[in-house]
Amino acid sequence: AMQTEAACSILTIDLTAVTDNWRLLRDRAAPAACAAVVKADAYGLGIDPVAPALADAGCTLFFVATLDEGLRLRGLLPQVEVAVLGGLLPGTAPIFLRDRLIPVLNDLGQVERWRAETAKAGQAAPAILHVDTGMNRLGLDPQETEKLAADPALLEGIEITYVMTHMACPDEPSHPLNAAQLTRFRVALASLPGAKGSLAASSAIFLGPDYHFDLVRPGAALYGVNPTPGAPNPMRQAVRLEGRVLQVRHVDRGEGVGYGATRRCDKPSKIATVATGYADGYLRALSNRGVARIAGHEVPMIGRVSMDLLTFDVTDLPEGLVYPGGLMELLGEGYTPDDAARDAGTIGYEILTSLGSRYARHYI
Ligand code: PLP
Repeated sequence: AMQTEAACSILTIDLTAVTDNWRLLRDRAAPAACAAVVKADAYGLGIDPVAPALADAGCTLFFVATLDEGLRLRGLLPQVEVAVLGGLLPGTAPIFLRDRLIPVLNDLGQVERWRAETAKAGQAAPAILHVDTGMNRLGLDPQETEKLAADPALLEGIEITYVMTHMACPDEPSHPLNAAQLTRFRVALASLPGAKGSLAASSAIFLGPDYHFDLVRPGAALYGVNPTPGAPNPMRQAVRLEGRVLQVRHVDRGEGVGYGATRRCDKPSKIATVATGYADGYLRALSNRGVARIAGHEVPMIGRVSMDLLTFDVTDLPEGLVYPGGLMELLGEGYTPDDAARDAGTIGYEILTSLGSRYARHYI
């Protein structure tokens, strides 16, 4: 990467921002424990640097989505607890046991599979039990939860460390499903005696202590996404993306820029062409909508996002600020992933997990 750096756009990940965010969430949720969700390569930031930084900050329990992610994390951090949200699929139990991964049990078949595996091994092993309370996506349905409550022998040899559920609308504090899920979860927890509870991801942490139970599981907020859209963001930004300027060109009045000539210059214009595109995860939906920043100035995109290129109208910038080989900020404090998400009609999560592999990545 060193010899190509001068030609690359640069993605800087602030690990201190991530660990500061984790501490803020931990303090907010205390006395509940605070895990970290690092699925999807730590939401696109890079699990290899991010997870060890969080472990150094004191995080001891990590959630991933897939078994492969779990194995990768186990290789990185032999000591931490790793829970796999996707569940215990047929044929995978021996791998979970061998690598001390904690399966999230999403149905009674998975409960039975884990019970059989631990019986075979002759040792109890931990698991997290996922009960569905209204998301209707993953987890035991209410009938299964009742069955389990009525017959605790189904859990023999399984140490249920947490009973968890997941909320559908925590980013809308007044949504009635929040209170409904809270009530259903309390009922489920009470029916499974001794179990500790986990309900809150990033947004629900800010719904108040009723939602914290014994463990919270933030992901997005660790990486700077605002857990309460519309309110001031208490999280630090962790991502800065700087696009490499390839050319600065003069374009006559009346000429179009980019595919489809969707925008025409209404005066003689100066256009900066930047080495980032939708193949790098810069969403094409940001065509004619994104902005770039340089030395405190903001400039608008002009034209469509191409596979490898962006074009910005830099006509009004002071002379000398933009030049080939220079950089313009595409994401950062001034234009956050949430800002880009608003302009692209999506959520900050998608901006982050789309971040591509062609950037020179710096971890600070
Ligand atoms: N818990 C579960 C079950 C999830 O699926 C997720 C992510 O979607 C999280 C926690 C973390 O959510 P967030 O990124 O909103 O904090």
